[in-house]
Amino acid sequence: MRISDITLWHVSVPLRAPFYPAWIPGLAQTENRFTLVRLVTASGVEGWSAGPAMERERQGLGALLGPYMLGERADDIASVRQRLREMSYLGWHLGWLEAACWDIVGKARGVPVYRLLGGTPGRVQLYASTGDVRDGKQRVVELEKRRAEGFAAAKLRVHAFEEADDLEQIETARAAMGPEFTMGIDANQGWRVAVVADAPLWNVERARRFADRAFELGYKWLEEPLANDDYPGMSELRASTRMAIAGAELNHHGLPEIGGMLQQRCLDVYQPDAVFAGGISETWKIVAAVAKAGARYTPHTWTNGIGFAINLQVFAASPWRADTLLEYPLSEPGWVPEQRDGLLTQPWLHQQGWLDLPTAPGLGFSIDPEQLRRHGHCFYRGTKLRVAVRAVLDKGIKTAKALGAVRDARLAARHAQLDSQTAAGVDPLAEFVQPVQALPRSDWKLADLP
Ligand SMILES: [Mg+2]
Repeated sequence: MRISDITLWHVSVPLRAPFYPAWIPGLAQTENRFTLVRLVTASGVEGWSAGPAMERERQGLGALLGPYMLGERADDIASVRQRLREMSYLGWHLGWLEAACWDIVGKARGVPVYRLLGGTPGRVQLYASTGDVRDGKQRVVELEKRRAEGFAAAKLRVHAFEEADDLEQIETARAAMGPEFTMGIDANQGWRVAVVADAPLWNVERARRFADRAFELGYKWLEEPLANDDYPGMSELRASTRMAIAGAELNHHGLPEIGGMLQQRCLDVYQPDAVFAGGISETWKIVAAVAKAGARYTPHTWTNGIGFAINLQVFAASPWRADTLLEYPLSEPGWVPEQRDGLLTQPWLHQQGWLDLPTAPGLGFSIDPEQLRRHGHCFYRGTKLRVAVRAVLDKGIKTAKALGAVRDARLAARHAQLDSQTAAGVDPLAEFVQPVQALPRSDWKLADLP
């Protein structure tokens, strides 16, 4: 399972209509953009992943990635995590790359990633996650459509400067949809962006007033009411409202960060996204910590079809799969499955608000080569030979040769160690696939969550 070939693309899938994300007020998003990676092993197994992008900002990534990742074994998650950590020291967050290794391992072993984590086939229930801010009337039109499609739950977006406007939307929506339709609300204050138009900024008092009113109206959770590093604020808010508070979707430092939030009892529902939180292995550690603490996990999935697949796999193995809803991003007319999941041979289409878990091995999707040719721009190809040539040009042949020899010796020693472990019956994945059991939840106010 040695990684012998790395390719990177800038991908830009045009949307069929502009999309106006609540989290970037004023932005007319016209493309679904991400960096796509393909890792190929010496035996030809491909692993894919994607990191959401604003532009072509990862143009220089290959120069770092090639020398660090080529030659590592995809199933040696411990070493992959160490390489990603080393690449992060100067500022990159690259946890999203790790999922491509799980894709390879799943394919090599012929099982979906959720099976590697102890999950079983079946289906999960979804909530329709809206993306733009609408007034009450427009929102009701949208929600009625979702209900007609079979959804039993949705998440609304509020991002108005005036509290009264936020309240108008949620009061109108609740009155129209009735108590049977489950609803949560996202305030998108976690990672506030005010680069195009200005954005509202909540404090604990506004968050509490809104949370209390939403609770009275029967909303089930309030997401990201405060900045994602305002731990004392979240803790104070959570202790003083009956509303369940959710968040932690873009916390890049994984368990050390979210473990601190659990200790401070910041949230009722933790939503780590494996694309951002350090990868599948790190997210699985978070899931275990959330279970142990008695809180709840359901991931953020709003990036693209590949990010959705990655989080679907982790959620499908978690204890919450049976009684918690998974985010299904959908905001017509701009953000719809065909463009959201652009490049995939099959978009993730729900069936009456449910999704059958993929049975294909790995992450459960395939890339359409024609779509990739149309919407992807390849900007890096790394092989051992190419990296060696680059090193010779940079350092001269003598130094490059000596450097390569040291690295090859380190890799050979590690692979020999893994081979002897395998011969002794020890799976290199073992420490990263511990089953997670939910512990009693009585201490957290989750009893009436969907
Ligand atoms: Mg959110």
